[in-house]
Amino acid sequence: MTRFSIAFEEAVPFAPDDTSIERSLRDPPAAAPQPVGPLAITYRIDPAKPALWMRLLVGSQPFRINSWRGYVLLGSAVLNMGLIGALGFLVYLDWSRPRPVSTADLAQLALVVALSIGLWTLSRPVRELPSRRVTLAGVSYLAISQLHGQLRAMHDSDRKVGGRVFSVVRHWGVCPVCSADVDLDEGGSAYPDRLVGRCHDSPTEHVFSFDPVTLSGSLLR
Ligand SMILES: [Zn+2]
Repeated sequence: MTRFSIAFEEAVPFAPDDTSIERSLRDPPAAAPQPVGPLAITYRIDPAKPALWMRLLVGSQPFRINSWRGYVLLGSAVLNMGLIGALGFLVYLDWSRPRPVSTADLAQLALVVALSIGLWTLSRPVRELPSRRVTLAGVSYLAISQLHGQLRAMHDSDRKVGGRVFSVVRHWGVCPVCSADVDLDEGGSAYPDRLVGRCHDSPTEHVFSFDPVTLSGSLLR
């Protein structure tokens, strides 16, 4: 026969150890394991609808930069620069004559400055295209129905000969964190001089790099 016996032992009273509490406050628990490697994103390219003035001027299909359409497009940016110069020259001629300054003169000067800033901003996507290859198109280059789009001047897929091809497209991807759409935006002060992919649902946290050649990127923060 097997006998079982149960014994009760005096429990040690609970006495919080101050030193262990201090230690736990001083040494935070180990960080949760981080995912191996950065989260990656693959961008896709969809055709985007250009603004009416662009469709009338150069059409909506991709074309080579070294073509009459390319020269017209680059010429539009040069024309803007010329208009800014002409406006400045006219103001200089007007103000160089000695005469009392009226409030109408000041209003005219403010108008010219505003127009110059507008023209400078308008030409920015085309002006920066040779150095950046992909620039944000903005509302002045896109049809009203098109919310996101970029100007792209890259080589045809694998072919590196024959010059660059200009197109109005939308680079976009799916956020690997939350599955929302990711669209390109300026990097701002956090990522100056570069375009980044921003998630629609978390534009400040789900931020991805953007490589216009490989069409890939990784989580930046
Ligand atoms: Zn996201």
